[in-house]
Amino acid sequence: MKFRIVNFVCLLILGLLFIFCWQKEFSFWLLLIPIFFWLIITSISAFEIRFNYFLNAYNRSNNKVEKVITLTFDDGPTEFTPRILDILEQNNAKATFFCIGKQIENFPKILIKAHQSGHIIGNHTFHHSPKNGFYSADKIIDEIESTNALIESLINKKTALFRPPFGVTNPHIAKAINSTKHKVIGWSVRSLDTVIEDENKLFLRIKKQIKPGCIVLMHDTSERTANVLEQLFVFLQEENYKVIPLNDLLKIEAYEN
Ligand SMILES: [Zn+2]
Repeated sequence: MKFRIVNFVCLLILGLLFIFCWQKEFSFWLLLIPIFFWLIITSISAFEIRFNYFLNAYNRSNNKVEKVITLTFDDGPTEFTPRILDILEQNNAKATFFCIGKQIENFPKILIKAHQSGHIIGNHTFHHSPKNGFYSADKIIDEIESTNALIESLINKKTALFRPPFGVTNPHIAKAINSTKHKVIGWSVRSLDTVIEDENKLFLRIKKQIKPGCIVLMHDTSERTANVLEQLFVFLQEENYKVIPLNDLLKIEAYEN
């Protein structure tokens, strides 16, 4: 893992500098330099799943030529999910829904409908807490396994896919994944559809990032996303892009056998 290498290199530099400082060749203030770099690299990487810093996530297809992409929706199911399902059906597209346990409890029928319509169901923790990044590995395992059990009770399948809330990764999450053996799915196109309110701006932001093999991250949590999704399908058709399921794009299994 990259973070182990960076830890090792920073500790090595720190050790060497300490020896030099001890021999009064340099000031002890110099020791702050590797500590500062370690802090910067570690904190930026915790928020950027695409760096594959703490764990290996699937962020896009290796095939960067074929005009195929996949769509993913996080944080549902919600009252907005049925319209997203209708738009996907009208466009004959299969997507992946990374669902939150407590939302599934609120909308179990919508989760079943998404599954029966041929979409993939992924795990997005039970509570999607902003504190998820501070949880112990055991607590994260509990978040993942309780959600997996709930999904299985409704669709009779064990999802093998996990997306960490907010895309935040750290050594505890890496340890939890090592135990649950989920495949971690990141993204290459972040729509920011929960932040950008202007539908036109949102559509343009997604459109300019579309490339062969990309994984698009959206949220089935607003009318806005559904409206932009309709526009996106028009664009994809004009540009001859095909929307394919995530497991086909990445050539992986979405469920445990
Ligand atoms: Zn989320």
